[in-house]
Amino acid sequence: MSKTKYVFVTGGVTSSLGKGIISASLAKLLQARGYRVTIQKFDPYINVDPGTMNPYEHGECYVTDDGAETDLDLGHYERFLGIRTSQANNVTTGRIYQTVIDLERQGHYLGKTVQVVPHITDEIKRRILLLGDTGDYDIVITELGGTVGDIESLPFIEAVRQIIWEKEEQECAVIHLTLVPYLNAAKELKTKPTQHSVKTMLEYGVQPDVLVCRTEHALGTELRKKIALFCNIKSTAVIESIDVETIYDVPLKMQKEKLDKVVLAHLKLSSKVDPDLESWKEFLWRLKNPKQEVNIGIVGKYVELPDAYKSIAEAFIHAGSENETKVKVHYIHSEMLNEDNVEAKIKGMDGILVAPGFGERGIEGKIATIKYVRENNIPFFGICLGMQCAVVEFARNMVNLPDAASTEMNPETSNPVIDMMEEQKSITKKGGTMRLGAYPCQLSKGSKAYQAYGKTKIDERHRHRYEFNNHYKEAFENAGMNCTGINPESHLVEIVEIPSHPWFVGVQFHPEYRSTVDNPHPLFVRFVKASAEYAAKNN
Ligand code: GLN
Repeated sequence: MSKTKYVFVTGGVTSSLGKGIISASLAKLLQARGYRVTIQKFDPYINVDPGTMNPYEHGECYVTDDGAETDLDLGHYERFLGIRTSQANNVTTGRIYQTVIDLERQGHYLGKTVQVVPHITDEIKRRILLLGDTGDYDIVITELGGTVGDIESLPFIEAVRQIIWEKEEQECAVIHLTLVPYLNAAKELKTKPTQHSVKTMLEYGVQPDVLVCRTEHALGTELRKKIALFCNIKSTAVIESIDVETIYDVPLKMQKEKLDKVVLAHLKLSSKVDPDLESWKEFLWRLKNPKQEVNIGIVGKYVELPDAYKSIAEAFIHAGSENETKVKVHYIHSEMLNEDNVEAKIKGMDGILVAPGFGERGIEGKIATIKYVRENNIPFFGICLGMQCAVVEFARNMVNLPDAASTEMNPETSNPVIDMMEEQKSITKKGGTMRLGAYPCQLSKGSKAYQAYGKTKIDERHRHRYEFNNHYKEAFENAGMNCTGINPESHLVEIVEIPSHPWFVGVQFHPEYRSTVDNPHPLFVRFVKASAEYAAKNN
């Protein structure tokens, strides 16, 4: 295979059409045919990365092995493809401008006027081509965030136009994702928004090669022909993307619609080898034919927007399939919980996960919940802030330190059982300054974590500023909470467990980022199993 080929995915009509899932599904189909594929996402906002954005604004911030704080679509790419992404896979307008402005300050442009065209567009092009230039991929799929016609998307579309112009026809393909709405009053699907959206693309000099049409009703031959004619593409390249039960159905749906074949034909690549999707189909079969059911409560403060906990929700889907168990996730607002109502509020839950987060809001609700599940032997899984809350609760109620706290919530506490990491204390800037990315961890044999992973050396991704205060380690172990995972270099505590409890595990890292369809995360798998055992005993 010679040169890397480029597939661009744009969106029209509205946002939230699922460009990330379509991109990941196409990538999955190409990968299952033996092609080496990666996906990157370009986001048109001015934040340098989504790390500084409130989860209500942007959903979860997904962290890669190299510590990049990225868009949650990268999570879909990793979960679908089983590949690892990096900073190169997510670029924002802010990052592009930052690079260009830094170069300008260094005198790189030799006195020239620095402009959107060509300087910003050149930087976008450089970053689009970067992954292809590594030679590691046959096909690079580039998803452009935002909707065509937005002011802020313009430089990206222009960069795509220039790349297509510079390359041979068979080196690039453009997929445009649009909406074909159904008007109830007229009892009709309407193609006009799609036609307008393609016209806008044409105004910018980009002709889509494939149209993926999101719709709630089947398109039918006539409508496909109409869309094809007025959007200037072949009718075989009009792909229907009808609503499905789960996002994991989309690759099979796209295969049925021949999205992969149409793209490969355009790129003049062979589609002779059939995609090997056996393990994917097995995963789906187990997902749709569960033998039992568990109810798991996710306690967090961003529950109004489930996208804030995207990777956790997906990790439960993977772990549920692995256990042949339907995992019913219930989002519970931590601000609504206290010691008096927790029993009633979490009634019927077979396991509780206390979610990651920042700041004081909802903390006492999390702590009250942890006390209840610890005392009542309900399986508990604490992630990052959830683990830190478990440490605070245990300190207050079992180590006899009633004023124990994290210094994030109470800087004045006389017992800072969770404290800011030494290297964090002098940092004043916010963006990209946490402990980020993958770090190693050594597990104690005999721990629940070791049982789950089946090995002692692991590494997991991080995103935090505070940590377990090792000064208290002995007191905790004497009172019955063990530190079962330790960073071998820094000696930071990565995992705490209560061995006398059926399943009480808190982790400082974020296991949810590593869970994929092919490799469900072992801690989620074990937590679901423990919750199913609890359900069997108690219901
Ligand atoms: N706020 C905590 C910290 O910074 C936990 C972060 C998280 O849950 N990701 O350490």
